Amino acid sequence: MSIGKPYPIEGGCTCRSVRYRMRTKPLFVHCCHCTWCQRETGTAFALNAMIEADRVELFQGEVEVINTPSNSGKGQKISRCPRCRIALWSNYSGAGDAVRFVRVGTLDEPGGFPPDIHIFTSTKQPWVMLPPGTPAVPEYYKASERWPKESLERRAALKTAG
Ligand SMILES: [Zn+2]
Ligand SMILES: [Zn+2]
Repeated sequence: MSIGKPYPIEGGCTCRSVRYRMRTKPLFVHCCHCTWCQRETGTAFALNAMIEADRVELFQGEVEVINTPSNSGKGQKISRCPRCRIALWSNYSGAGDAVRFVRVGTLDEPGGFPPDIHIFTSTKQPWVMLPPGTPAVPEYYKASERWPKESLERRAALKTAG
């Protein structure tokens, strides 16, 4: 899990129009090696911290939500800075609007959020070496089998909330 540190922690885009804070630690951190994430980031993988939308506070600027095709076919909504177009977070159809996938690289101290799991490793770039201590799955996984109890409880609370 993410390293214990005082919250909230802040992040933002490259032109600094958009600034946000994460109020608590995320639910789970994905390192996704799918070819879609490779194309969208222009690099080998995407690092996303999943967190309840109401724990992400936009305190400066605004985001533009761009509907973007996704690997699942159901699409994702990527929230970008309207000026520099950097992606701050996205919402996937599967998890709905209640959970944001915050781009870890946009946090001011991104090194505090190492992956909890590597996903879609079947398509990872061949030179990427996965660390032995972190779970890795060829495609996706069941949260009930991988997430810590506290995160599952937070997710359950979201579902009952509506
Ligand atoms: Zn910007
Ligand atoms: Zn991906």
